[in-house]
Amino acid sequence: MTEKSGLYIHVPFCFSQCSYCDFYKKKAERVEDGYVGLVLKEASLYKEEEKIPLDTLYFGGGTPSLLEPPQLGRLSEGLGEVFEIGEGSEITIEANPETLTKEKLEGYRALGINRLSLGVQSLRDEVLAALSRNVGSEGVLGKLEIISGIGFDSLSCDLILGAPGSSSRDVQEDLGTLLRFPFDHVSLYMLDLHRGTRLYEQVKGGLSLPGEEEVMESYRGAAEFLKQAGFIHYEISNFAKKGKESRHNLKYWKREWTVALGPSAHGYFRGTRTKNPASLDEWSEKLERGEFPYEESFEETPEEKLENEIIFGLRLGEGVDRGSLDRYLGAAGRETEKALAPLLAQGYAREDGGRLKLTFDGFCLSNEVISFILSDSFGRKRGEEGR
Ligand code: SF4
Repeated sequence: MTEKSGLYIHVPFCFSQCSYCDFYKKKAERVEDGYVGLVLKEASLYKEEEKIPLDTLYFGGGTPSLLEPPQLGRLSEGLGEVFEIGEGSEITIEANPETLTKEKLEGYRALGINRLSLGVQSLRDEVLAALSRNVGSEGVLGKLEIISGIGFDSLSCDLILGAPGSSSRDVQEDLGTLLRFPFDHVSLYMLDLHRGTRLYEQVKGGLSLPGEEEVMESYRGAAEFLKQAGFIHYEISNFAKKGKESRHNLKYWKREWTVALGPSAHGYFRGTRTKNPASLDEWSEKLERGEFPYEESFEETPEEKLENEIIFGLRLGEGVDRGSLDRYLGAAGRETEKALAPLLAQGYAREDGGRLKLTFDGFCLSNEVISFILSDSFGRKRGEEGR
């Protein structure tokens, strides 16, 4: 049976410029039709005699909800020339509240979008202001009333932990409010401070962020809250009701095929990793010349494949197959039993049904735990770097 691929389309335009964000994006109030044409041009480079079967399609960004339904309709039609978007496919669009109207949402639904992933980040006005989000909590809640009436099959929201002025109690209160709406998926991201962002400069200038312990407390408290509400912690940052895991994102973590279109998009298709340039100009110039716009593309070696299977697999609640670990560690002349013993003894990992799974404490220290497995340097890493 042919493996069904995922398709990712990056829409690198944003109405607002959030203070913490280091993604590639351009400030814009709308998506130009020319961009849609270029995405279709990139898609046409993948055209084969037989259409490529898909079972997930994901519009990410940036702010893909700047796309108007007719633009999305044009994209769907053009993509349908190259890809077979199978019955029952998961079709997601990421959205920012300020870009949504009832008409737009109805248009999306009519075009087959069945999953909406909403960037909420917080329901505290002071936190939203500190992050330079474009909409306050009342605005978010107003949009949620509208979204709830549209009837998407699945609804997800993103929340940020560790934002300026946010506490563990705030996050749990936000979750309590959000779960009055039909969310079946929640992503919790820790705020990362990136050089070159406005927030980085503000912190350098004296703005304080919650301490590491407070952030971990937020993560622990939110995870517990979601568990009580019937969510499964299926990936370090992701929680879902049973059967509502993001099928598209699981393809990344499980190393399945994903074609990626648009500037800065990363794909993995038939064993080849592809990376498009984080520049609209460079990406479009290559397309105008009729070339694949990759900045980089390479085939993974079997060793890289195995290493990535372990790195990504350990992010998942289901963990990694013990046989893969035996092969990886064996190739480095290491014994699995011995290599894992400290992690098992300290409660960072457990073995279950022939798989190694990180515990919640292991998720909290995932970088260190994974690098310990890969390089046996846990004691040194923890001592030197902390978290
Ligand atoms: S909306 Fe998202 S992509 Fe755009 S600036 Fe904010 S965080 Fe970055």
